[in-house]
Amino acid sequence: MKRIIFLLGILIVLAWGVYNGDWRGESGKVLEVETRQTPTAGAGASDKMSIHITKDQVYKGNLLLVNKEYAVPKQGADLKNIRLSGTKELSSRFNLADSSVQLTEMMAERLAVMFEAAEEDGVNHFRINSGYRSEKEQKQLFKQMGDQYAMPAGFSEHNTGLSVDIGSTLMEMSKAPEGEWLQKNSWQYGFILRYPKSKTEITGIRYEPWHFRYVGLPHSAIMQQKNLVLEEYLDELKEKRSMTVKVGKDKYGLFYYPVSGDTTVQVPAQGQYEVSGDNREGVIITVVL
Ligand SMILES: [Zn+2]
Repeated sequence: MKRIIFLLGILIVLAWGVYNGDWRGESGKVLEVETRQTPTAGAGASDKMSIHITKDQVYKGNLLLVNKEYAVPKQGADLKNIRLSGTKELSSRFNLADSSVQLTEMMAERLAVMFEAAEEDGVNHFRINSGYRSEKEQKQLFKQMGDQYAMPAGFSEHNTGLSVDIGSTLMEMSKAPEGEWLQKNSWQYGFILRYPKSKTEITGIRYEPWHFRYVGLPHSAIMQQKNLVLEEYLDELKEKRSMTVKVGKDKYGLFYYPVSGDTTVQVPAQGQYEVSGDNREGVIITVVL
């Protein structure tokens, strides 16, 4: 059995290498992802910690699914914990399409790190076209653009502050080195291409080479490796319930729990963990192992 798992592992690694061509990534960062299903949350671990989960956590966090079916949570973006950066500060750090572009501090931080890495690879003509949008702004946009090009207010990822439209000042993103670099490397910084060409039937959105969504590591790594969009990834987590993942040297435990009311769950005791809702009916706890 062990031998079979080992051989399977090698096959997966080989297939991954072939599929991705150069899977070492241009900046030479973490690239090896192993996922394994763990039997039950924390099984085998002697120490466990209890985490209290409240119902409202289903609607908070980096893994929220927002699409035509699942609206932006009623309480809106989790703005309590994320202060929107002033445009002045932003424009000194980024090339913005105009002064209306808003980013949360977390997003500005993550984007800066990612763009710095791109710069090292000689890719540096990024422009941020849109970040956080209020419902009011989304309403206006929807009116102007129509349902082929914009989501109605309350159903756009931009309302959560977790999405960003990134362009290139050189050419359109589908052909630009900026677009190519991001599609290949953004997962290393917690971002994913949210609406890929091959998944329009699942996302319900046409190919958008500019729209990137922050989900954080290790989720972005798993999604990239398994070629999953957020809808598919959350389904898989829900189905598997728990997974251990290795991304480079870092190891994580992922645990999915359905939440119908306040509850207490147990995960391996390692100290560092993060809880995110799926905006459907559950939460995902990510534990650093
Ligand atoms: Zn967008």
